[in-house]
Amino acid sequence: MIPERLAYAVKEFSPKSDLAVIERAYDFAAKAHEGQVRRTGEAYIVHPTETAVTLAKLRLPQNIIVAGLLHDVPEDTSVTIKEIETLFGADVAGMVAGITKLGKIKYRGMERYVENLRKMFLAMASDVRTILIKFADRLHNLSTLDSLPPPKRRRIALESLEIFAPIANRLGMGEIQGRLEDLSFKYVFPQEYAWVEALVKKRYVEKERYLRKVGERVRSELAKNGIAALDIHGRTKHYYSLYKKALKHERNLDKIYDLVALRVIVPTISDCYATLGIVHQLWKPLKGRIKDYIAQPKPNGYQSLHTTVFCDGGEIVEIQIRTEQMHEEAEYGIAAHWHYVEEGKESKNAVKESLGWVKDLMKWQQESLNDGSLLESLEYAKVDVFSKRIFVFTPSGDVIDLPEDATPVDFGYAIHSDIGNKCSGARINSVVAKLDAKLYSGDMCEIIIDKNRKAPNPDWIKFVKTRHAKDHIRSSMNAAQRGWLENLLPGGKGKN
Ligand code: MN
Repeated sequence: MIPERLAYAVKEFSPKSDLAVIERAYDFAAKAHEGQVRRTGEAYIVHPTETAVTLAKLRLPQNIIVAGLLHDVPEDTSVTIKEIETLFGADVAGMVAGITKLGKIKYRGMERYVENLRKMFLAMASDVRTILIKFADRLHNLSTLDSLPPPKRRRIALESLEIFAPIANRLGMGEIQGRLEDLSFKYVFPQEYAWVEALVKKRYVEKERYLRKVGERVRSELAKNGIAALDIHGRTKHYYSLYKKALKHERNLDKIYDLVALRVIVPTISDCYATLGIVHQLWKPLKGRIKDYIAQPKPNGYQSLHTTVFCDGGEIVEIQIRTEQMHEEAEYGIAAHWHYVEEGKESKNAVKESLGWVKDLMKWQQESLNDGSLLESLEYAKVDVFSKRIFVFTPSGDVIDLPEDATPVDFGYAIHSDIGNKCSGARINSVVAKLDAKLYSGDMCEIIIDKNRKAPNPDWIKFVKTRHAKDHIRSSMNAAQRGWLENLLPGGKGKN
């Protein structure tokens, strides 16, 4: 018998799934794990069940939920991937195999860290659904971490904080990122966690009460203007993201205006802008804090209007305005894309596009596997993916995502290798700039091209910041060197 929690989650959030298939998978997993007990003392099947519940709540389709139920079967029992394929099909078996591979390597310091990253990325590029299952699996493991010995607790928490959460962020899964971070935070930085918890608990309660009143006022003002808000709710900042922000403000929480925020969900994009206008008629906005992420989304796809206002009684409140689809994407990122594809509301291309950066990683990993410089390029990958990013505009308004301190040459290569190879000058915000100038977030950069240029300048290698640019410059240097060597060798070119 399938547990009620799972049946409910599937019926409620993934109604297109065939409950009979889910039930068959549950029975199969329960039988395979029979007699196994978790450290918590519970039957093992509780863990895959909770994993599947999380996946169902993300509104993911049937096969992912089934793979979630089966994810630990090949690892912990005598059942093989082949049997799973026979019983549940190649698609499910492929995901389960992916998860099993991913679980083999554990975080134990730098070398393993890098290795694990690679596994993650490879798995992601071949099937991002594997990552979603891994997140759901990890969320449940983190929630039962107390039953593990302390060193193991710390390892799993640290791995979640340093590897899983940044990937969730890059996939636009804000809610999952927040949950992963908060569950790990407690174990990785116990004292800091206690500090944040003590500090905000009371404030959250007070602020939430206040926000409810503000929300009611917004709702009635919108109604007067013919806008029916779909949902208005307060959101409290996740503990870990609050902690990171507090560190930037000398631990002074009074300077953090989005400790709590009011979210207003309205039907259409024009309603979003109309709502912003209505809010600004009610309360005066703070200078420089109005952000239009609808016209200019964040690189991970995040969309919303943000404003911070002097609210009733002089309180400062951040208000976030968005449509329902924007809301789901902000919370569940790529998982929401999947849901929309299932519903036929969005083309598969949109999903593919948002996976572009994953594909890029996959490609260069394949390349570096061939030339044996894998470890070196993984070092770059770590830097590229996890260091701070800046966002620079092209003259046509596209946003290019670059690492901090990137230069116009990095920018050129990020647009197209030809633009990088042939760049001869740059303008930053319409002012002529050197090719090694530092770019900053929000800059508009324009590359001046020399069509006759054959190859990049080898000196650029000294200042470029992205692996992508380095690779291109280096490979053209190597080609030049090879030509030079071949001419020196007896017999000359072509005879070897
Ligand atoms: Mn598991």
